[in-house]
Amino acid sequence: MATMESLIELVNRIQRACTVLGDYGGDGADLPTLWESLPSVAVVGGQSSGKSSVLESIVGRDFLPRGSGIVTRRPLVLQLHKTVKTESGNTEYGEFLHLPKRRFNDFSAVRREIQEETDRMTGKSKMISPIPIHLSIYSPNVVNLTLIDLPGLTKVAVDGQPESIVSDIENMVRSYVEKPNSIILAISPANQDIATSDAIKLAREVDPSGVRTFGVLTKLDLMDRGTNALDVLEGRAYRLQHPWVGIVNRSQADINKNVNMLAARNKERDYFLSSTEYGHLANKMGSEYLAKLLSKHLKLVINEKIPNIISLINKTIYELEREMNQIGAPVAVDAGAQLYTLLELCRAFDRIFKEHLDGGRPGGDRIYGVFDNQLPAALRKLPFDRHLSLQNVRKIVSEADGYQPHLIAPEQGYRRLIEGSLNYFRGPAEASVDAVHFVLKELVRKSIAETEELKRFPTFQAELAAACYAALERFRIDSRKTTIRLVDMESSYLTVDFFRRLPVEMEKGDISSGFSSSVDHFAEGHFRKIASNVYSYIKMIMENLRISIPKAVVHCQVREAKRSLLDYFYAHLGKKEGKQLARLLDEDPALMERRKQCSKRLELYKNARDEIDSISWSTR
Ligand code: GDP
Ligand code: MG
Repeated sequence: MATMESLIELVNRIQRACTVLGDYGGDGADLPTLWESLPSVAVVGGQSSGKSSVLESIVGRDFLPRGSGIVTRRPLVLQLHKTVKTESGNTEYGEFLHLPKRRFNDFSAVRREIQEETDRMTGKSKMISPIPIHLSIYSPNVVNLTLIDLPGLTKVAVDGQPESIVSDIENMVRSYVEKPNSIILAISPANQDIATSDAIKLAREVDPSGVRTFGVLTKLDLMDRGTNALDVLEGRAYRLQHPWVGIVNRSQADINKNVNMLAARNKERDYFLSSTEYGHLANKMGSEYLAKLLSKHLKLVINEKIPNIISLINKTIYELEREMNQIGAPVAVDAGAQLYTLLELCRAFDRIFKEHLDGGRPGGDRIYGVFDNQLPAALRKLPFDRHLSLQNVRKIVSEADGYQPHLIAPEQGYRRLIEGSLNYFRGPAEASVDAVHFVLKELVRKSIAETEELKRFPTFQAELAAACYAALERFRIDSRKTTIRLVDMESSYLTVDFFRRLPVEMEKGDISSGFSSSVDHFAEGHFRKIASNVYSYIKMIMENLRISIPKAVVHCQVREAKRSLLDYFYAHLGKKEGKQLARLLDEDPALMERRKQCSKRLELYKNARDEIDSISWSTR
């Protein structure tokens, strides 16, 4: 039996740890909850149904705040610890979790503290809060039991409370009782039709089969003369798996007269023993019986659940540790270690970026798409047919070489036509530079997103991206200069060989076009020939540039990105002071919070495991 007693104590201690470490179930955070796997008794019922009275008579002391309106505005986790009676007295005291090491021997001070602690959390606004107050009561007159007092279900807001309080309370209460491990102590007053009981309504909803609901009927003494509650107490009005318990608490008049709790218990016992209606049920009625019934049931449930709880604890410890590993250790505090971390992050990013360029990851091939498709297509589309139209050739040649140009090879005309054509190549050259620039930028963006280690540092991510973009911009400027220079070089010196071959070809052309035609006809053929000569020269250069522009672009942009993308940034990091380094390592606040939460929860589960390990499992 000692082991059975220690079981409730064990759960008590784990529940305490839960509250200390912020696990009170239903908190919405995406964290594993231990609280929800532990059995507990939740007290539910309408306003003034007698909840506080039942709790107090189970404890045997007055300690709960009273008053009209919604008095209980935070859950009260009440843990009862049975102590051994000693000669010295003072064995009975309360202790709040939020005031550790302070013993409350005066129970009216307990009541005041509950009130004040409620206000501390909810303010004077009379709002409700789901964060429980945790009170332990040590007494020889209690049984080991954990009860949760919840705000009373209500139908209207009072005291200037917002209308939403009605549904807020219902939702909070429901969040406690819908958990499969919650034992529901459903309080209904006997002087009200059971069909209208708020407690039964909610219990029926969350526990339709009634396996975890204990029905309690209060105010039996207040029923109309000539009526009785046997239909309810004997389970005919509303059937539950556990027997109904009838209660007679102190009336308001008793409270006003300060009737002692123990006297009230005796009075209650007498009430049942002497009752003509309930006499046959006397040993299964009353608050003392209720306390024992609940304690026994709780032990049973705990004993049944312990193996599951242990395996849940072990599984959760494993999962939380894995998540903590994923999140990573908190950032180092000294500047040297911070710089090291930053460089490691850069290297991790750089490795992935290079993999993209080298084909280990996708995206780098788009650079070759620029050279294989975009550039040749742009070159093909250049408007040489317009530039070398008969009309334009005639105009340019006439302007350059004066009249009678057809009598000699028009050198100036050729030069101008060629130079004019070469100008068109600047466009595709610059477009290639820009296209590759955007591919590289996109690869930087992708690589940052793919660097797991960077995920927790949004500030550094932005800084790193900015540094990479600035470097790429420098490469782009250099690349543009270089490719334009390639184009310009073509116009500074025309390939001599080409011109040496020209007269021969012209003669051939002249023969074929026929000497017998008119002068005009001759001139037209002459210009056509010039256009075709210029075009074949341009085509030769186009072919050169199609090959040399990619070389320049790769040299200036791709190769540099691989070689020196972060050079400036490294130098810049090296000059930073501790504070600036720390700022760069600003973690995502959500992640820091998550790490904190996980580590707290992990501590809870480890505590719980230690608690369980410390029990001698003689019954197993
Ligand atoms: P709560 O709002 O559910 O916590 O209800 P309380 O425990 O504060 O009780 C409301 C009122 O009903 C108080 O004045 C109690 O004295 C009174 N009361 C509660 N139970 C009984 C009972 O069994 N008999 C009598 N006569 N009065 C009761
Ligand atoms: Mg109350």
